[in-house]
Amino acid sequence: MLDTFIHKGKRKRLVELLEKKGISDEAVLEAIGAIPRHGFVEGAFSAEAYEDKALPIHAGQTISQPFTVAFQTQLLQIKKGQKVLEIGTGSAYQAAILAKMGAKVYSIEREARLHREAAVRLEDLGLEVMLKYGDGTQGWLENAPYQGIIVTAASPSVPDSLMKQMAIGGRMVIPVGSLEKQRMYLVKRVNRAEWTKEILQSFKFVPLIGRFGFPDQD
Ligand code: SAM
Repeated sequence: MLDTFIHKGKRKRLVELLEKKGISDEAVLEAIGAIPRHGFVEGAFSAEAYEDKALPIHAGQTISQPFTVAFQTQLLQIKKGQKVLEIGTGSAYQAAILAKMGAKVYSIEREARLHREAAVRLEDLGLEVMLKYGDGTQGWLENAPYQGIIVTAASPSVPDSLMKQMAIGGRMVIPVGSLEKQRMYLVKRVNRAEWTKEILQSFKFVPLIGRFGFPDQD
């Protein structure tokens, strides 16, 4: 994918904007400054790729707003080499940011077309991410526990299945609420039997559809 001087300049301005909006984690800002977001959106939207907004992708889904990506990633406090599970691969932009930060990323997507396109994009960028097609509300037990779990779609509750796949000391970032509006939850696993939960600001995500999410309307 072509990454020009103009793209780099636009990315630098996006990073500055995110800093103004309160993102301070250097590793997150560096990754956003490095990953070419214009390669994760459809051609018609590439001129808007470095604006701080969500954009449509295939299958009626969206690539999250850069601020949302930065906010969720910052909350994870992930260190190099740690395992992160993402539910909702979508365009694979969020997965690329985490991989660039040195995380070992596992990502699940329920839309077959998005899952296939994500694999091609990540390979083009030389980023290694383990991808799975299926219902992410059940997690990915074979590779658990995860130091971080990031859910990038709106959930009606925090699925037990995901709580149980968190490492002790691990963090989960998940938007919880109705289809119209959600609050970001930060869940921390204290020990085998205890978790804490902080409720943060409001967001609007596309729905998490699956066994422990919202029902499929189709
Ligand atoms: N992280 C994505 C990115 O960087 O482009 C944005 C994701 S988009 C806001 C939410 C994604 O969650 C959609 O692609 C949707 O198909 C997916 N999704 C919804 N329910 C899911 C489920 N149960 N398992 C896996 N993916 C799911």
